[in-house]
Amino acid sequence: MSRTPDDDLRVLERALAHAKAYLTALPRQPAGVAPDPARLRRRLHRPLAEHGVAAETVLDDLVADTADGLMGSAGGRFFGWVIGGALPAALAADWLTAVWDQNAALHACGPAAAASEEVAGAWLKELLGLPAASSFAFVTGCQMAHVTCLAAARHALLAARGWDVQADGLAGAPQVRILANQDHHGSIERAVGLLGLGRSHVRPLATDDAGRVQAVSLERALAADPAAPAIVVLQAGDIATGAFDDFERLIPIARRYGAWVHVDGAFGLWARTSPRFRSLTLGVEAAQSWATDGHKWLNVPFDSGYAFVADPEAHRAAVSHRAAYLTHAEDARDQIDWNPDWSRRARGFSTYAALRQLGRRGVADLVDRCCAHAQALAHGLAALPGAELVSAPIINQALVAFHDPRIGAAPANHDRMTDAVIAAINASGEAFFSGSTWRGRRVMRVSVCNWRTTAGDVDRAVAAAADAVAAISNSAGSVLA
Ligand SMILES: *Cc1c(COP(=O)(O)O)cnc(C)c1O
Repeated sequence: MSRTPDDDLRVLERALAHAKAYLTALPRQPAGVAPDPARLRRRLHRPLAEHGVAAETVLDDLVADTADGLMGSAGGRFFGWVIGGALPAALAADWLTAVWDQNAALHACGPAAAASEEVAGAWLKELLGLPAASSFAFVTGCQMAHVTCLAAARHALLAARGWDVQADGLAGAPQVRILANQDHHGSIERAVGLLGLGRSHVRPLATDDAGRVQAVSLERALAADPAAPAIVVLQAGDIATGAFDDFERLIPIARRYGAWVHVDGAFGLWARTSPRFRSLTLGVEAAQSWATDGHKWLNVPFDSGYAFVADPEAHRAAVSHRAAYLTHAEDARDQIDWNPDWSRRARGFSTYAALRQLGRRGVADLVDRCCAHAQALAHGLAALPGAELVSAPIINQALVAFHDPRIGAAPANHDRMTDAVIAAINASGEAFFSGSTWRGRRVMRVSVCNWRTTAGDVDRAVAAAADAVAAISNSAGSVLA
């Protein structure tokens, strides 16, 4: 039976119907699901068939088979990890990105994809207050933004010492030191490992109680080996607390030693778009590279990250490639000059759409609103019996712990109480939170990063937490043991 073009369009209408049903139901759906890998495998793991089935059947089955294995992270009651939402325009543009199916490796493969990326990149620099001459790359996430930026750093630092790392590799090269805020995100270490710089060469920089690198600690680390090439990794938005390093103070110190300053601003760099929070990022524009995400606070669908490099020549030298069969543009931007990937999704469209939907004011409002909800959520939770606000929101992140009410309870009991509260809230489906260990104790993470979150969602989350605390306290320790 041969298919007609109409048949092919029918499956897209089916996808639209499924999408609408999913998004409409979100407010009534559980915020998170209990993972059941065996059940999902049982359903999805059909024998690989000799013959295919109709596209609509594939889609319907996929929806049915995955329904209870999808986290409610697209919705407004999901506060786990740091997970953004998807703005309507960005989501729709992402669909069209698949429809258009451009290969965004080169301008020649997809002129509109290249142009929208070029424009969106310039908008991002303007919005985030980064130097206009910086180069950029649209990558899969902050992880690959680190890899891209640190590849540029590695190139520039070694080139300045007469070493061509692209041609000659690292064996025999001067050792690059990586001096990083001791609370740095694990993606820094992964980037360092992938680039062959060696994870053991990451030196933690001591922080103050607020999680900010101490100037003396940076100065001492640099002075210990002043001639050695060094990358200093600072944070705009710590993963746990949302803390910001003091860029105005620290970057000039690093520059005095010729170090390359890289900023992990996965979500926190977006504070820069809000007049209310901008002062947290003062001086960050003096760094040499910045990594951030579109899929977190800008609410572009996964996956979307951005790398920015103040020295475009270092960036291009670390990444670019020329090949006889490629068609390189003279008067346009070839993404392969800036991106570590070759063939790639046309990621610019969804970012372009998000920025147009929101405008400057809309981005700032999104940031402010998430921060206000995080405040309300953190303080609502902290007001519950036995709750403690371990880290109040600086921006959109907070940490809360719950105390075991029993007399003589020890720190380990409090840790179990916190984990039990998280589990009970998540089991209720009313909200979803993730846990962490911070400064030696179990905490519940609060992260508000989705345009869909409302004050009503915050109230529901606090009410679910109140029920969880009451139920566990009444169970007289059976849950806590
Ligand atoms: C999420 C995050 C990362 C990693 O970003 P991905 O987009 O997941 O690759 C790095 N640093 C911080 C601070 C983050 O929050």
